[in-house]
Amino acid sequence: MHGLMQQRQLTISSVIDYASQVYGDVEVVSRTIEGSIHRYTYRDCARRAHRFAEALDRLGVKAGDRIGGASWNHYRYLETFYGVTGLGAILHTINPRLFAEQLAYTINHAEDRFIIADAACLPIFEACRDRLTHVEGYIVLSAPEHIPNTSLQNVICYDDLIADSGDDQFPWANVDEWDGSALCYTSGTTGDPKGVLYSHRSCVLSAYAFNMPNAVGVGFRDTLMPIVPFFHGNGWSVPFAAPMAGAKLVLPGRDMDMAKLHELIVGEDVTVALAVPTIWLSMLEHMRQTGTDLGQLAKIVTGGSAPPRAMIADYESDYGVTISHAWGMTETSAATTFSHPPNGVSHDAALDVRVTQGRPVFGSEIRVVDDAGEPVPRDRDAPGELRARGFWVASDYYNAPDKPAVDSNGWLITGDIGKIGPDGNLRLTDRAKDVIKSGGEWISSIDLENAAAGHPDIVEAAVIAVPHERWQERPFLIAVRRQGSAVTGAEVLAWLSKRVAKWWLPEDVAFTDEIPHTGTGKIDKMALRKQFVAGKSGFATGQT
Ligand code: ADP
Repeated sequence: MHGLMQQRQLTISSVIDYASQVYGDVEVVSRTIEGSIHRYTYRDCARRAHRFAEALDRLGVKAGDRIGGASWNHYRYLETFYGVTGLGAILHTINPRLFAEQLAYTINHAEDRFIIADAACLPIFEACRDRLTHVEGYIVLSAPEHIPNTSLQNVICYDDLIADSGDDQFPWANVDEWDGSALCYTSGTTGDPKGVLYSHRSCVLSAYAFNMPNAVGVGFRDTLMPIVPFFHGNGWSVPFAAPMAGAKLVLPGRDMDMAKLHELIVGEDVTVALAVPTIWLSMLEHMRQTGTDLGQLAKIVTGGSAPPRAMIADYESDYGVTISHAWGMTETSAATTFSHPPNGVSHDAALDVRVTQGRPVFGSEIRVVDDAGEPVPRDRDAPGELRARGFWVASDYYNAPDKPAVDSNGWLITGDIGKIGPDGNLRLTDRAKDVIKSGGEWISSIDLENAAAGHPDIVEAAVIAVPHERWQERPFLIAVRRQGSAVTGAEVLAWLSKRVAKWWLPEDVAFTDEIPHTGTGKIDKMALRKQFVAGKSGFATGQT
């Protein structure tokens, strides 16, 4: 027998409509790309999002079409999350830090028809425009006076497009909650980036969960500041969670200068801010140097990498700010587990819990499996591969039938290794995927190895992650010299600097006579880590 409840779809547009109707006067404050501060309300945001949907309709965009978006966090980009998805089209959030090849690959794979970009991101498209196979034009998220000179063709000014002639009431499309809404490529593993296609339903449900006290716990009295860019897993749900909660939103733009971020946190009475540990370490440094505090900030959400224990302790003891440590992936719509210590435990015991990756919030499940794929019991102190499933966890990658996302039991293969204790808290200990995460961004060890092995004096190269105080992890190159060669580390680094981005360059180079291999002939990274990182504790354990 069916229940007799109304059949309302979980759509993204319902979130901004709600915020506009119920919290219409709540502010959205942005630092623009030009540097000025812009203020308006959720009502204004909804109005402009409706107009943008109408403008896209005028441009011939249809439900299901992909529209690329490359922008730092500010109000115009926020509007596109609603305007694009409100038309039933799909917003492909592009990471502007990707190289031209990866960028072109993802845009072509997604078959983006238009690119929405802020002025700061235009140069990356100028660099790869001739390789883009489906792009018909570029919508620049600026006022007309701030559109820069560009070699791109068919450039449209966003503000002109949604100018007063637009329709504030343009009706949202009739989308089904299972329809695609946003597409985010993960470059976390080797090979081509893989697309994670969120549905309307997954975005709404993960934002609901985000606002629950066991996750971040947000309400209309809060002010949220996502320092994490929206191109990382839908900005960890903030573009939907903040309006859903009626919380004031503070968007920092592209300027990651600590003084600028600090000015916004204190000046706008931010209560909850989200960023990777690298940002929080720099902020700590900034406050120590300037003798300042964090004003009304009560809670920091950190994820993407393991935060150092000392950092969590210092924020709590010196600044009275609680750190909620979260684990998640692009494939799990970002934050999925959150660490919160129970009541009544000692300071040290609480810290012991905060360094863990925490427990899943309702709607997502995790388990750890052994080599045979069998779940490892929680009371057994043995690590295994982490798997996840839930309302907002990917089932497949977009248009990639040869790249399964889930195991034979339907659980997402995360590539993370860890333990789940009897208390239910996840403790990550290692990573099975061959990548390095530096300051929240991925570096492919395989790509670096290939580049190094291209050096005429190098026979074989292996790259592993080493713990780093500021960037969490940095690449470290281990190489075997060709017989008779006396090539130096500096020469190898100079060779690499012409082939990879500067921030990919290994911290150091060590030479060895032989690189260990596993039974299947792969480089044995575990053995290398034991050999070269032994004593430097802390890889993904939060102990550094
Ligand atoms: P995001 O863009 O949110 O960083 P990615 O999909 O790029 O998401 O990265 C997810 C990966 O980052 C995880 O599989 C894990 O390896 C790492 N990671 C995320 N959160 C944590 C955490 N709290 N502690 C340790 N590693 C983490």
